[in-house]
Amino acid sequence: MQIIRPKKRKGSFFLLFAAVLVIAAAASVLFVTALQDGELVVAAKLASSQTESEGEPEPSRLASSALESSAPASSALESSAPEPELLLPQDRYLVLVNAEHKMPDSFVPDLADYDSIQMDRQALEAYREMLEAAQEDGVNLWISSAYRSVELQAELFEREVEQNQEAGMPPEEAEAAAGLLVQRPGYSEHATGLAIDFNGVTTDFEDDEAYQWLLENAGTYGFVLRYPLDKVELTGIDYEPWHFRYVGPEYAEEMNRLGYCLEEYVYFLAEQAAESAAPAESAAAE
Ligand SMILES: [Zn+2]
Repeated sequence: MQIIRPKKRKGSFFLLFAAVLVIAAAASVLFVTALQDGELVVAAKLASSQTESEGEPEPSRLASSALESSAPASSALESSAPEPELLLPQDRYLVLVNAEHKMPDSFVPDLADYDSIQMDRQALEAYREMLEAAQEDGVNLWISSAYRSVELQAELFEREVEQNQEAGMPPEEAEAAAGLLVQRPGYSEHATGLAIDFNGVTTDFEDDEAYQWLLENAGTYGFVLRYPLDKVELTGIDYEPWHFRYVGPEYAEEMNRLGYCLEEYVYFLAEQAAESAAPAESAAAE
């Protein structure tokens, strides 16, 4: 099978996001995104050298030196003519929820209970199997957080805005600053029930043997590290060793084999689908 890295080829599906975000930057909002060689790049931030967190109550964040070397946004929009928007995979286990992709209104979480935690039913089944294997290997794994409703996310966001206002920020600034620390309601993949935060949600988790175990074994059970250190520019979220995402074993193993984060993988699949549809059209035209 021919593997084509999507970012080297087109990537103008990101054009719309880039345009929207460049406008946002002009309005003194916090991010500017740019297309650089077709790649979505978090190019600049006012106020902070950190990327957005997906909303954990997690104190320490890593400065992302990668961001500082990014191109200015103005180089982004010169390039290509608009292309038809790619259709992302419709499989619910590949649903993409990030700062540019709100959780679809049609997505209804299929939740099951696990102690006081809720998460996707199939993901929970996979987690139970994974936990058993981890325990057999003497590895201590536990869930800090999984499903969070849009309402709870709204509360977390609102609380952050209020704290900023109490600290003296005007409302707009307070909201923008909150957006740096807490994912906006509807834009956290915890609302899908497919995300798990492990073992206390700390950056120290990367030194934990459980983290190493997960890197080696989670794919077998269908979980992937969702915000890897080397994908910050693509995910728009800082490295989060504790946050894993259920996609199912088949996709997880292919993502690991290709070395793709979810953003790369769903666009890779979308491009493949578009390409396999395209030859028929051009043949018909000739
Ligand atoms: Zn998380």
